[in-house]
Amino acid sequence: MEELRNWLQKQQQEGNYRALRPVNRLEHGQLAPAGTSVSSSPLFDFSSNDYLALSVHPSVISTSRHFLERFGAGSGAARLMSGDLEIHHQLEEKVAHLKGMESALTFGSGYLANVGIIPALAGRNDVIFCDRLNHASIYDGCLVSGARLIRFSHNDPDHLERQLKKYRGNRKALIVVESIYSMDGDRCPLQDVALLKNRFDCTLMVDEAHATGLFGARGGGVIEEDGLTEDVDIAMGTFGKALGSYGAYAACSDEMKRYLVNRARSFIYTTALPPAVIGASLAAVDLVGDEPGLREELFRKVSLFKECLTSGGWRNTGPSQIVPILVGDSRTALEIAAELQENTIFATAVRPPTVPKNTARLRFSITRHLSEETVKKAAEVLLDILSRRSVSVLPK
Ligand SMILES: *Cc1c(COP(=O)(O)O)cnc(C)c1O
Repeated sequence: MEELRNWLQKQQQEGNYRALRPVNRLEHGQLAPAGTSVSSSPLFDFSSNDYLALSVHPSVISTSRHFLERFGAGSGAARLMSGDLEIHHQLEEKVAHLKGMESALTFGSGYLANVGIIPALAGRNDVIFCDRLNHASIYDGCLVSGARLIRFSHNDPDHLERQLKKYRGNRKALIVVESIYSMDGDRCPLQDVALLKNRFDCTLMVDEAHATGLFGARGGGVIEEDGLTEDVDIAMGTFGKALGSYGAYAACSDEMKRYLVNRARSFIYTTALPPAVIGASLAAVDLVGDEPGLREELFRKVSLFKECLTSGGWRNTGPSQIVPILVGDSRTALEIAAELQENTIFATAVRPPTVPKNTARLRFSITRHLSEETVKKAAEVLLDILSRRSVSVLPK
């Protein structure tokens, strides 16, 4: 056990040690650290991915409750056993419609989806082209696949093209990107990637974890907004972020769905999502389609936050609801997070290995839970801390 102790100590010394910090959720995007009295000043949550605040939407809660009471707490078995309820298919139809694809398949979570889909599409003799900053679950899927992993520079289609020329060969090839990057908040040049996908005859998988429900006229995501539905083979995403629920999906052709049902081990060997979760996801998908005002309200708050930062001299606020403040050093990031907390702002210091070495950052995400006043105040507090520490924008 000495090995474990030494390893933990090293993490602590480098500012990369992680610990769980239980909180209680209050109204209006507020958190109270567990054990503190609710009246002692709560924190405003700038770390949540519940962008549209759907986790507490009355129709999400009531549909979830209804499904719980009608169908029970658990689904009882895997989909290919007796856990394949009609409500799973209803949800899949709605998701397919939202994403503008023929079909969809649900998974236990986004992590499970990526760890199952990627090995189903690429094996030992194949090659995967992976954006350097892709999510850990994508990397784990690549590892499980045993395929040759070729990384290309983040959001750099020219580098992708060079890598394709060099390594494409005549085996099966898969390109995997995210549409909005989870820790950088920037957006994939998807049009360029789609051109390369077609030119080099690859399968294209896009992770829309942080885009679904938020981008596109119908809330379908960046793929919809960029008009690339025909070019994407698998549009993967999660119900756990803007949709406020839990679980994940792959939207694809009907043939691809039938293939994944037979091939994706993280779909086959696991219990089907429980009814209450399906109910919540169903209602959330409906809300995204029926109430574009929800994302308009969110993006008004996002713009406000960015305008405040820009007028305070901060550049590079990016194109999405995720605003990273790069500070570089892990311990500096932790100190700034602590200072923010003293001022009632909860924003996580994201450090290696979640992000590359020396790119520790505060990750601010804006949600509908937060009032305009809170968003403004957070930007002011942040600017004040940064100027006192004379932190300036790091070149990316
Ligand atoms: C959060 C996330 C996942 C994992 O989704 P979960 O449903 O939380 O397991 C996958 N990909 C990306 C890009 C993510 O941000």
